[in-house]
Amino acid sequence: MTAAIIDGKAFAEALRARLAEKAASFEAATGRKAGLAVVLVGEDPASQVYVRSKGKQTVACGMASFEHKLPADASEAELLAVVAALNADPAVDGILVQLPLPGHMDEAKVISTIDPDKDVDGFHVINVGRLSTGMPGFVPCTPLGCIMLLKDRLGSLSGLDAVVIGRSNIVGKPMAQLLLAESCTVTVAHSRTRNLEEVVRRADIVVAAVGRPEMVKGSWIKPGATVIDVGINRVPAAEEGKTRLVGDVDFASAAEVAGAITPVPGGVGPMTIAVLLRNALVAAHRNAGVALDEAAI
Ligand code: NDP
Repeated sequence: MTAAIIDGKAFAEALRARLAEKAASFEAATGRKAGLAVVLVGEDPASQVYVRSKGKQTVACGMASFEHKLPADASEAELLAVVAALNADPAVDGILVQLPLPGHMDEAKVISTIDPDKDVDGFHVINVGRLSTGMPGFVPCTPLGCIMLLKDRLGSLSGLDAVVIGRSNIVGKPMAQLLLAESCTVTVAHSRTRNLEEVVRRADIVVAAVGRPEMVKGSWIKPGATVIDVGINRVPAAEEGKTRLVGDVDFASAAEVAGAITPVPGGVGPMTIAVLLRNALVAAHRNAGVALDEAAI
């Protein structure tokens, strides 16, 4: 293997330590903790694990965690009432509605009712617009985590050729905007892209956010490129009845060619919650009018 491993777990740990310091100084300045509220509808096991983990990490960083759980058959009006109460609550700086929502609820409508200045997931159209026009707002956590890892690894990204594979609103599109803001030349590939291998082979930076296990092969990668693997795919393990996690990149072959690569697990995954806490702390400072050097955390 020639590639350096980009250790997202260690980076996220260091980020949480910086956040804990800033959370303590925020509390000293304002007399209250920065607060993050998470709303969970239904009993999806993966979402429950994720929400529990968010709550624990929020408290460990010295912030206040508020959890609101609604049954799977709750009405959309009930959920909107919870969001409205959180919008009005001065102890709540950030609001996250765990997705996916049950089929009878309109996700876009629910997200549009979150106060954009508390929308720490960055999914509200106002924050999408702010990102694409370069105004301060909130950026979705996973792509922001990816850009932090890239800048930590490469320093300036200016002038580099970047390919983002995937165009979802949650990962691919905001990732492309962030790379553009760093002055990369950005190509966004998707399921209709022709000659994907050739497109990927031109890139100094490859971000794979596809949801297809080990699709991107080492032979597609330009030697020395930096590879960020967002994919989280559960596949059968060699041992009967067990499963394991793999990314969208074939790690073994890509690590022979790339200059640096994120592993799965332990790469992008651990960054997402840490960046969520970062966004919540940024929201708290902005909402309370307390100065914070946002670029330094
Ligand atoms: P989506 O399913 O919303 O989007 C997948 C994208 O990949 C689409 O734009 C699709 O194209 C494109 N695509 C699908 N097949 C191909 C193909 N054969 N060639 C090229 N492009 C293709 O997924 P998400 O963006 O939500 O997630 C992507 C991956 O990242 C998943 O594995 C997910 O689990 C993971 N993830 C990880 C997170 C983390 O915390 N690390 C957070 C969020 C996601 P088209 O638009 O044309 O259909």
